[in-house]
Amino acid sequence: MPSFRDLLITARSNIREVLPAEAAAMLKMQGTVALDVREPDEFDQGALKGAVHIPRGFLEIQVAGRVPEHDAPIVVYCAGGVRSAFAAQTLAQLGYTDVVSMTGGFNRWKDEGFAWEAPGVLTPEQRNRYHRHLLLPEVDVAGQVKLLRSKVLLLGAGGLGSPAALYLAAAGVGTLGIVDMDVVDASNLQRQILHNLDRVGERKVGSAKKAIAAINADVNVVAYDVRLGADNILDIFAGYDLIVDGTDNFPTRYLVNDASLKLDIPVVHGSIFRFEGQASVYLPHQGPCYRCQVPEPPPADLAPSCAEAGVLGVLPGIIGSLQAMEAIKVLLGLGDPLVGRLLAYDALEGTFRTFKLNRDPGCAACSIPKDQVVIAEYDELCMPHPLQAPAV
Ligand SMILES: [Zn+2]
Repeated sequence: MPSFRDLLITARSNIREVLPAEAAAMLKMQGTVALDVREPDEFDQGALKGAVHIPRGFLEIQVAGRVPEHDAPIVVYCAGGVRSAFAAQTLAQLGYTDVVSMTGGFNRWKDEGFAWEAPGVLTPEQRNRYHRHLLLPEVDVAGQVKLLRSKVLLLGAGGLGSPAALYLAAAGVGTLGIVDMDVVDASNLQRQILHNLDRVGERKVGSAKKAIAAINADVNVVAYDVRLGADNILDIFAGYDLIVDGTDNFPTRYLVNDASLKLDIPVVHGSIFRFEGQASVYLPHQGPCYRCQVPEPPPADLAPSCAEAGVLGVLPGIIGSLQAMEAIKVLLGLGDPLVGRLLAYDALEGTFRTFKLNRDPGCAACSIPKDQVVIAEYDELCMPHPLQAPAV
């Protein structure tokens, strides 16, 4: 029966080993994969930048999903070069054609002064809480850490803001700002699932904070119990990675649009009307903005607010959830966010349709340099008032 030593000699004779210097040269070429086969606690202490992490015990099971191209150059490493030798042999058996094992592993790499980084670390509790995220190679620990470090501002703790806030909190977005100056009313509970009967009469931001705290202690809630206006919008927006817009009127949407262009913050838009809802993503200066889509507001009598128009309670749940999904896609760079596209949901028909939105080259807000965007207060007809926000 062969001993461990015999197996290692056989493995080494079947693979190619390279010193850290050659590995570093290979990794400078685009498309080369650094594959770390150490255990999670070792990986958390530090790893090669951008390394794909699959513990040795999961290699056969997970590698096809994580490294789909069988001809991709792969540098496998562990701590000292033994586990990676066996891993390289296994990869060759699985059909990977260009695999090397790094002699001396991560320890030698570090000793020789090559660059590495400490990836974000999740506590055991977080590994358990976000387990279903970690199973997605597109998210993994790096994505979850990114979410935990992300700051999302929700405009409104109402029909759209409720599901968006709950899902973003559950997903572990580390900072959630919430702007709302309303009080919870019993008539809100038909759709605003952040709130409940015990909290009727409370400030909405306070109620939202309690609901989120009960879901995820990782989330820091920043409450803004104010009316969003030209005088405070830039101060409130500054520092956030993304805005989830759940506002229900044109003047505020224009204000939000202009401030987001000025500060370069993506906005995930959602709107609802009776049985129909829409969602889109405005990526400043990369896709169309809200003004490209709606250059002028419709006459006030054609655009009643939700308070007047009525809405089926589930509808904002669907659109707000779509906003949470788009927000996470933008934060993690996943898939194709709804940039330049309007997703329209007709609940009665049971259909989703996507409309292309074009950027208007003459748009009053996004075709000019961002320092020239004027943040002004608008009245209900969306006519600008003279009031201007302080300069950023
Ligand atoms: Zn525009």
